[in-house]
Amino acid sequence: MSSAAPNITTQSRQAMLIEPGRIELREFTPPRPGPGELLIAVRCALSCGTDLKTFRRGHPLWKLPIAFGHEFSGVVVEAGSGVTSFKAGDEVMAAPTAPCGICFYCQHGQENLCADAVGRMVLGAYADLLLLPAHVVARNTFLKPANLPFEEAALLEPLSCVVHANEMARSEKSETVAIIGAGAFGLLHMLLLKAMGVREVAVVGHGAQRLKWAAEMGADRVIDARAADAADQIAKLNSGFGPDLVIECTGQVEGWNDALARVRRGGRVVFFGGCPPGTELRVDTRRMHYDNLTLIAPFHFRPRDVRRAYDLLASRALNAGAIVNARMRLDELAEVFSMLERGAALKCAVIP
Ligand SMILES: [Zn+2]
Ligand SMILES: [Zn+2]
Repeated sequence: MSSAAPNITTQSRQAMLIEPGRIELREFTPPRPGPGELLIAVRCALSCGTDLKTFRRGHPLWKLPIAFGHEFSGVVVEAGSGVTSFKAGDEVMAAPTAPCGICFYCQHGQENLCADAVGRMVLGAYADLLLLPAHVVARNTFLKPANLPFEEAALLEPLSCVVHANEMARSEKSETVAIIGAGAFGLLHMLLLKAMGVREVAVVGHGAQRLKWAAEMGADRVIDARAADAADQIAKLNSGFGPDLVIECTGQVEGWNDALARVRRGGRVVFFGGCPPGTELRVDTRRMHYDNLTLIAPFHFRPRDVRRAYDLLASRALNAGAIVNARMRLDELAEVFSMLERGAALKCAVIP
């Protein structure tokens, strides 16, 4: 799990999003890690749908210019004082957030809602070097197993989100699950459900290429969302009763409406993809009540989800690496986003 400790270079590159659509690689002098902090050399940063959205139109919570990228793995360059679990040369993987551990939500086991959980997110992984703050080092940083590729290790954050949703959904092996959305998140859900032995997982999505990837990765059935009979095909699942569980992964209100319409009587819907601000969902109260629906809206993840995601990656229980199906250099970052926009990759590994 140890590599030779990378040298601390005097200058390091970091991708900054200057304004929507414009990225600049800027040189910066890497900071020395303070107490509890780690300075790591990034070995892989993964593109994420959030980054693509931010690239296109900015982000409601982040002021531009901003350093971005939050899915990563790397090698410790220097550990700050008081860090006992990691030393220079250790290969590490981390989630970009960690809860405070003492607030109301943390005390109620809902660390995903802690103000620190998302409010103090590590950004700037599209860079040579990255500083991990003490709260992240203390709670959500792990040694990377030597046989786990850096690309797969960098999936810790998205897989933690998926694991959290999965815990809330309480899927069972005997069930039929329909996933709406064939992007990286939809397929991570599929891989997890199949690894857990769930009987039938159908992926509903747009684009022949994505559906092909879904089938290759092990979806039992793929359904083209644009097909005229898509709704019929979903309704026929589960001996004609419809899916027991529908997981919405498009983050569009149309997807949320579809998920609600397709689930069987007595079934559960997981609204996984966050929708644009200001959008609303209308729910037919009669359907909700008399069809006994359960609606679940998971957000973010808790340390226990990160731990489980880590175990899944470390044990190579899912073929998670298949999700990363493109590789580019840090100085090609702008092209990464145009490639994602064209749907030519699920996730791209950005290598400094
Ligand atoms: Zn992400
Ligand atoms: Zn808290």
